[in-house]
Amino acid sequence: MTSYYNRRVGSVRPSHLMFTAGIGSLVDLPNFSVLVKGLDSWTYEGLPGDYVIDEPRLRTAVNRSLQLYGNAQVTELRSAPWAEGADTRPKDWPAQGVGVPVTPFPQWLRCTACNVLAAVDSDTFEFRNGNPRAPHEAKFIHDCRRGRLKPLAVAARFTLACTDGHLDEFPYIPFVHHGNPCTKAPRPQLRMRDHGGNQAANVTIQCISCKKKRNIRDAMGERGAANLPRCRGRHPHLGTYADGGCEQEATLMVAGASNQWFPVTLSALALPPNRTADVVRLVEERWEELKAITTRELYDAISSLPQYRYLKEYEAQDLIDAVAARKAALDGRPSEAPAGPVDLLSPEWAVLSAPRPPQATSDFTLVEVDDVPPAVTGLFSHVRQVERLREARALVAFTRLDAPDRESPEIAEEVRLFRSSPGWVPASEVRGEGIFLRVRQDLLADWVARVEKTPVLAAHREAFARFRTNRKSDRITGEFEPMAGWPGEAYLALHTLSHALIRTIALECGYSSASLAERIYADTAEERRSGILIYTAAPDSEGTLGGLVTLAESPDFERILRRALRDAAHCSSDPLCAERLPKYPADYLHGAACHVCMFVSETTCERGNRFLDRRFLVPLEDDSDLVLTPAGLLA
Ligand SMILES: [Zn+2]
Ligand SMILES: [Zn+2]
Ligand SMILES: [Zn+2]
Ligand SMILES: [Zn+2]
Ligand SMILES: [Zn+2]
Repeated sequence: MTSYYNRRVGSVRPSHLMFTAGIGSLVDLPNFSVLVKGLDSWTYEGLPGDYVIDEPRLRTAVNRSLQLYGNAQVTELRSAPWAEGADTRPKDWPAQGVGVPVTPFPQWLRCTACNVLAAVDSDTFEFRNGNPRAPHEAKFIHDCRRGRLKPLAVAARFTLACTDGHLDEFPYIPFVHHGNPCTKAPRPQLRMRDHGGNQAANVTIQCISCKKKRNIRDAMGERGAANLPRCRGRHPHLGTYADGGCEQEATLMVAGASNQWFPVTLSALALPPNRTADVVRLVEERWEELKAITTRELYDAISSLPQYRYLKEYEAQDLIDAVAARKAALDGRPSEAPAGPVDLLSPEWAVLSAPRPPQATSDFTLVEVDDVPPAVTGLFSHVRQVERLREARALVAFTRLDAPDRESPEIAEEVRLFRSSPGWVPASEVRGEGIFLRVRQDLLADWVARVEKTPVLAAHREAFARFRTNRKSDRITGEFEPMAGWPGEAYLALHTLSHALIRTIALECGYSSASLAERIYADTAEERRSGILIYTAAPDSEGTLGGLVTLAESPDFERILRRALRDAAHCSSDPLCAERLPKYPADYLHGAACHVCMFVSETTCERGNRFLDRRFLVPLEDDSDLVLTPAGLLA
């Protein structure tokens, strides 16, 4: 039976595959919910069109991050297996009928008429799908009314999850019987009743055979966890269970809860060609094949072989230099331990902030705005239009219960997308446009020096350390550095400024703020940075319309900037919002900022609406020392 209905509910439309749903996540269909299966189940067989996304910088970063999983090499980034119109056209190719493979989950269903609760594979329910090309119409029904219309069975929405990212069926039968077997039947029948009311959950499970009853509340919260079995270490997207179970406590999770799935993605902008970087990357990716190229003669010999003809596209000397440099680097490091994550932002910052914009390409066009008014240059040393950009984004893993923390991977365990690496990961690409702003470096450095030692910044830093300590997994037995991943003081100011501008741009131009995205280029240990990129990057948008770019021009930009700052001075939740600062024991990661005044949609913000504080843009409590903005813009 499994294969029967799997074939017929096999696909979901992948338009939001990367961001709101993806491998391992539960997706609601009208009549039940499904789980997106791991890459082992995906197929592109016979799919027409070009689904490979070419972005070497991103591919390198994906490879580096997958080294966590034992050197799984990725040679391709692929868009989802879907052809436009595939759901209406006749079945021409195998992959079309599959789309993104899914399986019904949770597998427990409840009859909407008689409340019988049973698993999909118990033969209690009947699967119906009149139109195989419309998997959304698929449903399960229960034959409990003898000859009359058969009522619908819907998913029983309770599941178990743990911070290692496992997901399992709710153990209804043991739960009702308090962990003991049923005294009346080996395979007892259950009923599930929803008593409704104002309470979050008031659902009872009853055994029809022995009449034992238990409310689902017994499984909720801290005390509930004691009534639940230990996590079995199940990954339903892979069909695996952890050897020897799982150390983590299982938690009740309702399907559809916002913490059921968080994507771990990497994203890169397509940058104009940079010969040196390309060669370095090539040598890193194909080291075993290319390490022999140490002389011009060897280059000539190797590049004349058919399988190495692509080397002709590179300068011989560039290749020889790159091989020598890598050899030297490897000799200095006895073991070839994987380096840290690839810094995807650094090359972008180099191009965006370069003294002169690079040669325009079809993927990247940067234009300086020349007539920037003096009030604006007091804050920004560069205002640049990104007339064209292309962003590629790859899904590399996911987490449950807690969102992934880029710099604190120990907080939520990242779950892999496959049992054995297929050599590719799913990716998407969007074209758009943007505005790049470089905050004056001297202004920002002065501000950091001024605020670094203030109690306000101390409160932000301490909240960050508490936040990490409170979420620290028991797995960490070694050293734990509570401040690891602190984005730096300057990040808070740049990030808040970015949000203020995004909200104003959305208001003024009728953009949905969800169709905008941000990238903050803040200081690193190696490099002084002070940039903000605001860009359009909605997967389903038409791409470049030119509307955003023109806002960088005079006099629009000054007006928008002034309005953003004026709006940032007030929130309808003031004075509560203006006074907010995380103090012990609070561990939220924002100051004067909230949904009313500063937050943007989850897909827009690169840091989950953390690290925001209006105090750094405008004087809130008459403390103008905390403010980055020059006085000329606050008038
Ligand atoms: Zn029924
Ligand atoms: Zn029973
Ligand atoms: Zn677990
Ligand atoms: Zn507010
Ligand atoms: Zn943000």
